[in-house]
Amino acid sequence: MTMPADRFAVVGAGQMGNGIAHVCAMQGFPVTLIDVSADALTKALATIGGNLDRQVKKGTIDEAAKAATLGRITTATSLEAVKGATVIVEAATERKELKFQIFRELDRHADAGAILATNTSSISITEIAAVTTRPEQVIGMHFMNPVPVMQLVEVIRGQATTDAVNSRTVELSKALGKIPVEANDFPGFLANRILMPMINEACYAVMEGVGTPEAVDQVMKLGMNHPMGPLTLADFIGLDTCVAILEVLHEGLGDPKYRPCPLLKRYVAAGWYGRKAGRGFYDYRKA
Ligand code: NAD
Repeated sequence: MTMPADRFAVVGAGQMGNGIAHVCAMQGFPVTLIDVSADALTKALATIGGNLDRQVKKGTIDEAAKAATLGRITTATSLEAVKGATVIVEAATERKELKFQIFRELDRHADAGAILATNTSSISITEIAAVTTRPEQVIGMHFMNPVPVMQLVEVIRGQATTDAVNSRTVELSKALGKIPVEANDFPGFLANRILMPMINEACYAVMEGVGTPEAVDQVMKLGMNHPMGPLTLADFIGLDTCVAILEVLHEGLGDPKYRPCPLLKRYVAAGWYGRKAGRGFYDYRKA
């Protein structure tokens, strides 16, 4: 078997980073998974191992493929480990200053021709690119959660991204078994520009007493054939994340139609962040 020529580095080993590393390794690419937290790396490897076990049980891969996949993943706690990677995918915490700091450091350590991709959900690719000395090599590679399951990758070009980097990222997404869709760098890109206003409107419908969360979700599932209602999905994404993305849309596009619903903000103020907090539009604490 010929080995793919590309080598990946994934920065951030949280829920998205471990999924991206899983998919890269599964498709035969060597991948270095990097996180500031050694604990996050241990958890990420355990999660990847568990997800591969499920694939073995389902019969989609065998034990040898599982071992080979795990064998392609190395871990590191320093960004210097991106040396030698041809593609770097940053999937660290969604904070602008943090992403800027990481990209400044990537600029110092990454190989000259490397693609510097970010999995950001809402931060401007152009702004991230501008902190580096090579903005033409920076691009958005927006995977969906859970990464091993979801087919879409939004490929977002910043102001300076070259055609060559864009088409290589499209090809790389395909090589990872995904279906790339190209978008331009406007707040929320395509996925969140369309999804978040729907979630926000669902929140307003509940706040105004038009219907219960259950009723809203049933209408969208049974009437519009959505696999999951918007409020169940919001709880899954995290209500804090939904507010953060809506604020980016509101500020970036300047249109009041994007203002986060006050009920959504009240839940976040109460710490009801959704599934991860045990409580959001639904209560996950019971049994
Ligand atoms: P997460 O909180 O699960 O993981 C973030 C990881 O980044 C943590 O392990 C943290 O230790 C690490 N980190 C923080 N600072 C770092 C640094 N300086 N260097 C290296 N690692 C560092 O977050 P997540 O849900 O995996 O999200 C990661 C990125 O993916 C964000 O930009 C988010 O917007 C984007 N995203 C998330 C989803 C989703 O549904 N969760 C979907 C698409 C995109």
